[in-house]
Amino acid sequence: MIRYTLACDKGDVFESWFQNSAAYDKQVKAALITCPVCNSVKVEKTMMAPGVLGTKKKRRDAPPSQMPPSPQQSSHTPPPHTPSPAAMMSPQERDFRNKLKELRDHLTKNADYVGRKFPEEARKMHYGETEHRSIYGEATPEQAKDLHEEGIEFHPLPVLPDEHN
Ligand SMILES: [Zn+2]
Repeated sequence: MIRYTLACDKGDVFESWFQNSAAYDKQVKAALITCPVCNSVKVEKTMMAPGVLGTKKKRRDAPPSQMPPSPQQSSHTPPPHTPSPAAMMSPQERDFRNKLKELRDHLTKNADYVGRKFPEEARKMHYGETEHRSIYGEATPEQAKDLHEEGIEFHPLPVLPDEHN
């Protein structure tokens, strides 16, 4: 087994074990090695492979390790770039979110807020009792269902996943 320190085209560095260097070559060509951080398959060996190129160690005074590797102590240090649980929004998602916000801002700016009277107001407009205008407000799922069944068209106000960045 041989350990290589690999880097992807985005600059993430991670370590991986291979049967031998030929196995590494084969897996790279077959795009079987992916970056654990960004899943890129464009990975290559880096020159800074501390575990592999042991002969190039500069510190000669370090005592050589006499301990044979045992399963109990083979707890490797975590890779330098441990994926974090934080969600990243892609530019498209960010864009989409901004559009939603625009739409919502536009709606709330140009429509009358009628609150819980929304079903009532929507119905009045639908049956010609009041003039058509843009309104927004609240409706329970049951009320929304009733409105739909009466053929009254309305749309749910877009809800943003998160207001703060
Ligand atoms: Zn990467």
